[in-house]
Amino acid sequence: MRRALAALLSGLLALPASALELEGSWQQGSLVHGQAAPGSQVWFQDRALRVSPQGDFVFGLDRDEPPEVELRWQEPGDAAPQSRRHPVAPRPWKIQRIDGLPQDKVEPPAAVMARIEREQALLNAARDRDTEGQGWRQRFAWAATGRISGVFGNQRILNGIPKQPHYGVDVAVPVGTPIRAPADGVVSLAEPDLYFTGGTLMIDHGHGLHSIMVHLSSLKVAVGDPVRQGQVVALSGKTGRATGPHLHWGIGWFRSRVDPQTLLPPMAVPAR
Ligand SMILES: [Zn+2]
Repeated sequence: MRRALAALLSGLLALPASALELEGSWQQGSLVHGQAAPGSQVWFQDRALRVSPQGDFVFGLDRDEPPEVELRWQEPGDAAPQSRRHPVAPRPWKIQRIDGLPQDKVEPPAAVMARIEREQALLNAARDRDTEGQGWRQRFAWAATGRISGVFGNQRILNGIPKQPHYGVDVAVPVGTPIRAPADGVVSLAEPDLYFTGGTLMIDHGHGLHSIMVHLSSLKVAVGDPVRQGQVVALSGKTGRATGPHLHWGIGWFRSRVDPQTLLPPMAVPAR
């Protein structure tokens, strides 16, 4: 609707055809969808974006995105790129203290450091995928419904020790609850037992956008499997560093962390 209106206005006002259309909430931890002339190249903060043959693309604003970002784009036949700067609204992240975690999950013993580094490399390789998948175009759906027990972005203090922020949304569900693909994609990581995240599944939605679901008790798909939105891909659990049974679901655009709740409709009341 907004695109149709924009197209109408640009026709009426005879705006230059080179206008780049961008749609998003422009706050930390959100996604921006864009449309350029087909055949254009587009860069976000110096990263070359994957642009579809129709000229559309997506990029994420990280939890800690700076207050202003730069986009550049070059249309076919243009001698040089054009550029535009855009403000990004900061969000007031809360501080959250969680106590009572097993101490070896907060301060891992030296003996497991090699394992943790190996697992981090696996996760990062999946985050760095840049494929032509189309799931990023869809309206995302909840992977599971239930009480939201943790929101995105909190600065975490675990057993009194400051740790990395909470890069996902937690949904309190009993062990064994079916977990559904939030959008179409391809399974990019399926690991039954990572040190921090336990049973871990990643789905590549294309153009750098991906989901990660963790603390799972059972994986129903394997790396390389195509999945459709709504398909059961795993069962929830409390594996890895979890204080209780829940689904932790994160969304990323490459290494940038996005708040799943900025992509989702309000949750329907669970039938329970
Ligand atoms: Zn979580």
